Amino acid sequence: MATISSSSKILIVGSGVFGISTALWLARSGYGDVTVLDMQDTANTAYDPSCGVDSASADLNKIIRFSYGSEIEYQRLATEASKMWDEWNREIEEASINELPERLRYGDRKLWWNAGMLRMSCESDLGDFEIATLENMEREGIREFQFIADDDIDISRARERGWAHKLDPCRRQERFGTHKAVLDSTAGFVYAHKSCAWAQHLAKRAGVEMILDPRRGKVIDITTTNNQPVVHTADGLQHTANIVVVAGGGWTPSLIPEVQGLLETTAGSVANVTIPKDRPDLWKRFAPEIQPVITWGSRQGKEVYSLPRDENGTFKIGWRKTKWTNFEDVREQRISVPRTAHVTDHKETRIPIDALNGIKEYISVNFPELVPLGITSTRLCWYTDSIDNSFVVDFVPGRPGVAVCSGGSGHGFKFLPILGREVVKILEGKGSQTVYGRMWRWRSSSDHTRNGLEEGEEGWRVLSRQTMASEADWSFKDQ
Ligand SMILES: Cc1cc2nc3c(=O)[nH]c(=O)nc-3n(C[C@H](O)[C@H](O)[C@H](O)COP(=O)(O)OP(=O)(O)OC[C@H]3O[C@@H](n4cnc5c(N)ncnc54)[C@H](O)[C@@H]3O)c2cc1C
Repeated sequence: MATISSSSKILIVGSGVFGISTALWLARSGYGDVTVLDMQDTANTAYDPSCGVDSASADLNKIIRFSYGSEIEYQRLATEASKMWDEWNREIEEASINELPERLRYGDRKLWWNAGMLRMSCESDLGDFEIATLENMEREGIREFQFIADDDIDISRARERGWAHKLDPCRRQERFGTHKAVLDSTAGFVYAHKSCAWAQHLAKRAGVEMILDPRRGKVIDITTTNNQPVVHTADGLQHTANIVVVAGGGWTPSLIPEVQGLLETTAGSVANVTIPKDRPDLWKRFAPEIQPVITWGSRQGKEVYSLPRDENGTFKIGWRKTKWTNFEDVREQRISVPRTAHVTDHKETRIPIDALNGIKEYISVNFPELVPLGITSTRLCWYTDSIDNSFVVDFVPGRPGVAVCSGGSGHGFKFLPILGREVVKILEGKGSQTVYGRMWRWRSSSDHTRNGLEEGEEGWRVLSRQTMASEADWSFKDQ
């Protein structure tokens, strides 16, 4: 492990949630020579996916939840993060226009919206997992923030606290005669692109340098000379550093192939519906003040979620039942790598038809009024899954000074304001003394089942084995 001091030269590869949070906390902790490299210009695009930038963090919005079932360490960290999200909202609200990054100067300024999250069953009961989750919450004293949609006591408590209008936004009771759901009033969502732009702004303000450029910022290799890491960029330059932190999201295993087996690059499927501004009925219904985040049929075979519309009317729906892989030749190995709309050689804006059909079923059953609008766009969103869904933040064995910081496994965004605090401790060599250092250490599993990573290229989730949906499939004409 490399020793780190306040004058150490630290390079971070990747300006997504994991990289930018690390940079921010390093600078705040007194490290004065921190540079973030990214092959995408996340400054000028402001992480806005409609501006040609591809990453898990560069998205419209992400769900924020603080209840983590029995995973109490993540629940505690999420609860700490919630205070920082509140603080960021306050700071932005109180800032003068000149103190804000460009993208926060217009439209909604608020990053974190406590819109609630409705966990909707697709069956006539809540399901065993939901019941176990509620029992856990009872034990932890947080049950009072949860409202069962058809429980009279909970309904009246929801009414008292101003949450009753979010208990059945799909009018399921009226339409199907039954509605089994639990509203979590602590949860909500953040505007993802604006949150990253704000974190990047704070990191710059704290003194972090940024090289965000397809040549100068693109890392093509990391080698070792005299026991120190050397980063090679696409412009032909070599950058020697004391510490290199690889926070490359879905591209991490292609830069550090030895992380394969511990991390795998996979994609979730997303579709958007545009709510027109000239439909005031829909505009109002899908606004975050009225519409909660919704999950449908979690652990019941549906696995769909949606978020309230954003300020441009985009209603985002995600399908998480299957996470796709895409194996290609990288450094003489077969490694799953992203296949995205803008950055990769093989451009991809489609999603598999199974995912699209799952999303269309969600809309048809729960929001039939959106059927005439059809789907407006689709996207594969790439990230890294770890063998146990826990992050991976540690030095890479056999590579002096090189650390990996990834493995968001679909739940990392909420930790943007706080993640770096724990990463700094690990980089300082205190990982074995901290809860998160021990949880996120370099590890392996001898278990037969390793979160799907054991399937590799033989698995059925490989993208090339899927039928991809075309634009012709976006309308609901057959339903
Ligand atoms: C479909 C989906 C839904 C999700 N939903 C939620 C949610 O609701 N709530 C939640 O909390 N979390 C959610 N997550 C997880 C969250 O988005 C991720 O954990 C987080 O954004 C990952 O950030 P990252 O920094 O690791 O990677 P990324 O955001 O992918 O950033 C990696 C960066 O590294 C750069 N890079 C890569 N390779 C190189 C290179 N060679 N040289 C230079 N730069 C490089 C890329 O350009 C990119 O900017 C979701 C993820 C997905 C995919």
